[in-house]
Amino acid sequence: MIPILGNETSADRLYIELQYMLADVVPDFELKLKADLAARINRLKVEKNAVILGHNYMEPTLFHSIPDYVGDSLDLARRAATTNKDIIVFCGVRFMAETAKILNPSKTVLLPSEKAGCSLAASITAADVRQLKRTFPGVPVVTYVNTYADVKAESDICCTSSNAAAVVESLNTATVIFLPDEYLARNVARETGRHIIFPTKGPRNGSETELDYQMIGWPGRCEVHEKFTLGDIADIRKQFPDVIILAHPECSPEVVAASDYSGSTNAMIRYVEQTKAPRYLLLTECSMGENIAAANPEKEMLRLCSVRCPHMNQITLEDTLESLEKNQHVIEIPENIRSRAAQAVERMIAIG
Ligand code: SF4
Repeated sequence: MIPILGNETSADRLYIELQYMLADVVPDFELKLKADLAARINRLKVEKNAVILGHNYMEPTLFHSIPDYVGDSLDLARRAATTNKDIIVFCGVRFMAETAKILNPSKTVLLPSEKAGCSLAASITAADVRQLKRTFPGVPVVTYVNTYADVKAESDICCTSSNAAAVVESLNTATVIFLPDEYLARNVARETGRHIIFPTKGPRNGSETELDYQMIGWPGRCEVHEKFTLGDIADIRKQFPDVIILAHPECSPEVVAASDYSGSTNAMIRYVEQTKAPRYLLLTECSMGENIAAANPEKEMLRLCSVRCPHMNQITLEDTLESLEKNQHVIEIPENIRSRAAQAVERMIAIG
């Protein structure tokens, strides 16, 4: 279990706890500064009746000090759906905060930095989805939660990397449109035994219509996970033959196939907690490796890490404090988009 200190309001006690977990990775003067900020945030959170949700990719001092709940997208969507607090502060990126708002229209949802976007979410628009639906009429649309609200609103059901294959199979249809992550789609196609095609934005060429396909994908990519290569895996196995390699399903199918395990961020955390290997390597956003290492000091985690998500990196303790103090940046979604997106997200949550 990852220990979190979201109820702690004493800067001194936070400093001691953070020092215990993070002394190896964060300089001491920074830990003191962060502990002070975290204590102020935790006091303000109580005053304002707010809840803080923290994604697994948050930087280690934030991740361990202020969230009431940490987890992957699906976990946090579930938490957002059941909170009774007035304000939800989402320490993650915009599409995650939007999902919280979609599920909680009457609550105030705050995103600490307006710059926290996502290359994957930006790869597709609602107009693109409408075009695909015209091209493939009647085919249900499964959309990864890493999309903006207007794209979700055009979809039949959402999925996360934890439940993507289960969602596709739950539809019981011969063909599905699966958007927008190319690699996740290819990995799900392989897992479910489906042949996938990637139509271009222009008119389809004749050969695609003649192919026997069961999935239709989109060429979106996560700019973090697309960077891992077979060469990285070969190098690390040469140096550490007993390493266990875990890959996120947004990595390429070749990288996933060459790894020992593939799963969502929460599934990777569980895997490390429940197994005993000489050492582990995570092919995912690098703050998560630091967070797992801090929570499991007896396990050796290798670092292959120059891969920090520039969008997740926008969320800091400083911005989170300012966001709570000034009630900024409030997530707003037009009701006609929110209500349609809610149907797609709620269908996903019902599947689990
Ligand atoms: S890690 Fe990838 S999918 Fe996640 S927010 Fe960053 S760019 Fe988007």
